Amino acid sequence: MSGWLIVAGLGPGADAMVTPEVSVALAEATDVVGYIPYVARVPERPGLTRHASDNRVERDRALHALEMAEAGARVVVVSSGDPGVFAMAAAIFERVEEDPTRWHDLDIRVLPGITAMLAASARAGAPLGHDFCAINLSDNLKPQALIERRLALAAEADFAIALYNPRSKARPDALDAAFALLRETCGDNRPVLFARAVSTPEEVLRIVPLPEAKGEMADMRTVVIIGSSRTRMIPHAGQPILYTPRTTP
Ligand code: SAH
Repeated sequence: MSGWLIVAGLGPGADAMVTPEVSVALAEATDVVGYIPYVARVPERPGLTRHASDNRVERDRALHALEMAEAGARVVVVSSGDPGVFAMAAAIFERVEEDPTRWHDLDIRVLPGITAMLAASARAGAPLGHDFCAINLSDNLKPQALIERRLALAAEADFAIALYNPRSKARPDALDAAFALLRETCGDNRPVLFARAVSTPEEVLRIVPLPEAKGEMADMRTVVIIGSSRTRMIPHAGQPILYTPRTTP
């Protein structure tokens, strides 16, 4: 049997949010490749080799996966959420682009998953019910000035904004700086959703107005959603609903 490479999203955490086609790919795989905690989500079984690596070695991981598939293995590269959202699918194609003729005939597929902002949005209501954008706050792969420009323009355009990688030990102040920048353009009524470890037993949701939002309310397992000027809370039994109506006057 000839090899293939599938880049698959495992969803935000819950087994129930892994799609059936991803489960089939994992059942057929000979090798699973990815960041340590994501590979740990794939149960061991006979015939499956798990290759877990640190999250700073994405280039090496991509080449390793391509080479195993080229040699005949059935390889699944796993990401959390969706593999095309700040994750391994683009890392694989960056490698393919470096040497396109080598991988020309290799069977490569991407299987989507439920990305963090969509899982978080669903838990809170529908804060992404109208136009929105997603910004990765990590400055590993782009200059800080570009992040600031995108935040400012997103606020000016009145998007709801999902922030991925909002905080890390290397960037303890990045999220506070982002909130300060957004406060320059956005009014005081913007709700900010901090959604941590969505769909796992450690899930915590918290909603505060933008003036009260603080960087320390997030960690690397949190996705932050800042509402547009139309995003609001409506009372509901149990917990209030956060949503953005589909109309803009
Ligand atoms: N490919 C992933 C994103 C990888 S970047 C996806 O589509 O979801 C890693 C960032 O995703 C984290 O810093 C956090 O902002 C967000 N994230 C991933 N899983 C999450 C979860 N279960 N709950 C909240 N945020 C999550």
